[in-house]
Amino acid sequence: MRVLVTGGTGYIGSHTVVELLQAGHQVVIIDNLSNSSHRVLERIEHICRKKVEFYEIDLRHPSALNDLMTRNKFDAVIHFAGLKAVGESVEKPLAYYENNVGGSLNLFQAMAQSGIKNLVFSSSATVYGDPDRVPIDEHAVLRPSNPYGRTKLMIEQILTDLHASDQQWNVILLRYFNPIGAHASGLIGEDPRDIPNNLLPYVAQVAGGRRAQLSVFGDDYETPDGTGVRDYIHVVDLALGHLRALEKITSDPGLLCCNLGTGTGYSVLEVVKTFSRICGITIPYTVVPRRAGDIATCYADPTYAQKTLGWVAERDLLSMCADAWRWQEQNPDGFGGNND
Ligand code: NAD
Ligand code: UDP
Repeated sequence: MRVLVTGGTGYIGSHTVVELLQAGHQVVIIDNLSNSSHRVLERIEHICRKKVEFYEIDLRHPSALNDLMTRNKFDAVIHFAGLKAVGESVEKPLAYYENNVGGSLNLFQAMAQSGIKNLVFSSSATVYGDPDRVPIDEHAVLRPSNPYGRTKLMIEQILTDLHASDQQWNVILLRYFNPIGAHASGLIGEDPRDIPNNLLPYVAQVAGGRRAQLSVFGDDYETPDGTGVRDYIHVVDLALGHLRALEKITSDPGLLCCNLGTGTGYSVLEVVKTFSRICGITIPYTVVPRRAGDIATCYADPTYAQKTLGWVAERDLLSMCADAWRWQEQNPDGFGGNND
């Protein structure tokens, strides 16, 4: 298939592009490089031994996008591009609505105009907010608790309305749990621009000596060791979920929504312990008060993805930590564009 990947130089996008190329698909990437680097492209080409077509395009400025869509015939679009920091979305809600919702609308309009009606969209477990029960299945109540999560829910709703208005649209909404890890080559991985917000990149940077210690946000949750529990999923498993979604889209499935998680939750301290074991370095940490807006426990019921996409996550926490550590060790400054 000829696939347009928005946000394809980002963390999840780049891993997905590698799997797409290795599976024989043709890929065109667009990204505005607001949270990624050109250097990712060389790394992808090195891993795959193939050239990748790239355009620096911002979804908020649709003319270049429209041009590209009229000049090319794509079979499907995988839409990763967006801003993703929960805390920043609380401080800059307009930027998040403009970029995520506005950018997505431009993309869907360009797709409609050029008759491309197959789409895989990056949604998030954030749309569930604080769940009534775990594991979380796709029928759980949707009540995101921050602007970022609401942009994801709004985009899901726009796509649901679009599909209701025109059944020729095939849309697969993928709700990711907590992607971590890196490609086994150590050539691509997560490269936060500033001080990491997420647990894994922070732990990896402490192990690598770039940060002094980890702050554990609360140890008084109702969880086995009091720290927050999440469903960490290897980014390569997540990438493979997109491949399965793309295969599914050719069978005219209409609108589908699937959780992509492992179904297992790990606490912050379990992650720290596993990472220490992998890298052979003690990770110093102190317990600090809970982070505003955090929930105690969140993990997926991944049954529906298995049933509809034939996909199941295969990599365990040890391999997630080992791959994240390889990436960190080989690239202590990420792709080299950081300024913190
Ligand atoms: P990322 O920031 O690494 O990748 C997103 C890419 O989109 C970046 O390369 C960025 O430059 C690009 N981008 C942003 N706005 C753009 C615009 N207006 N036009 C063109 N390009 C633009 O993030 P990621 O972790 O790879 O996440 C990919 C998608 O998955 C995002 O939509 C994110 O919300 C979603 N998601 C991520 C996580 C996670 O924990 N990483 C969890 C659930 C959902
Ligand atoms: N966490 C932590 N210290 C950090 C970053 C995260 O203790 O520096 C905890 C956080 O409270 C949560 C878990 O690690 O329980 C995962 O947090 P992350 O931000 O990676 O994912 P999310 O909260 O968005 O699921």
